[in-house]
Amino acid sequence: MSAPGTLFVVATPIGNRGDLSARAREELARADLIAAEDTRHSGAFLAQLGISRPLLSLHEHNEAERIPEIIARLSGGANVALISDAGTPLVSDPGYRLVAAVAQAGFGVVPVPGACAAITALSAAGLPTDRFVFEGFLPARGPKRRARLASLAAESRTLVFYEAPHRLAEMLEDLAGAFGAVRRAVVARELTKLHETLYRDTLGELARLAAGDENMTRGEAVLVVAGAEALEGDADAAAVLVDRLLRALLPALPLSRAVDIVAEVASQRRNAVYDRALALKASVADDAGKGA
Ligand code: SAM
Repeated sequence: MSAPGTLFVVATPIGNRGDLSARAREELARADLIAAEDTRHSGAFLAQLGISRPLLSLHEHNEAERIPEIIARLSGGANVALISDAGTPLVSDPGYRLVAAVAQAGFGVVPVPGACAAITALSAAGLPTDRFVFEGFLPARGPKRRARLASLAAESRTLVFYEAPHRLAEMLEDLAGAFGAVRRAVVARELTKLHETLYRDTLGELARLAAGDENMTRGEAVLVVAGAEALEGDADAAAVLVDRLLRALLPALPLSRAVDIVAEVASQRRNAVYDRALALKASVADDAGKGA
């Protein structure tokens, strides 16, 4: 019986073909099967590299049904490479369920790293990178998107978003609305491509620019947004935020629930928020007593 195969998760370029690693090329050339998001797109890409291997489509809508098929091939000893249209598979791309199932079934999963738009944007944005959160694509529009942005407004880590070109202007406007127009951000557009441009400004300015500059909203873009600085350095601003949140939540929720939420949202120690909540409750009770 042949040895079981391995699943190689292979990153491909996000624009510049030169970013395909030598190792990625090697694994693709010797894979028995390449699972690709769009077989036409990847077929053309592989043909340019002089690689001709059997392709199998694996996208959002058929991932579940492809899993048993791929596991059967691995059992038979085939090495399978997983690629997406661009960049690192599984990062806002299909593959998570496949990787989980393959690992669960006991087969090897080997990452072959390379380009990723989020990391590429972060590496040149010039915003803090010691801690960051990757938010990928937000809900396309409407209340869900606004609610998600509201929940992120106090996040102190640098935030990274993906957005489709035709929604960039609207996204910047929503971000400026939710985070404040003066928050610093970078729009990293067409990374590694001919028209690569990084726009560094405030959210308000970037929103204004995107509304009037067609070039800016052409091509793919990553948005990198500075975290809420108030929470990093300015203890007074953090205290103001905690008070505002507590005043809004205490009348509606049990004290300990309100404290949990505020400590999480404002990135503050629970004990400190708890003490502040008790003090606010006591002062409200005091005022009510005086008014009576
Ligand atoms: N898996 C990919 C990765 O590793 O980055 C991401 C795929 S996701 C479907 C596509 C999104 O990634 C685009 O809408 C854009 O936000 C971002 N993106 C991909 N390539 C890019 C590039 N060359 N320049 C800027 N953003 C890019």
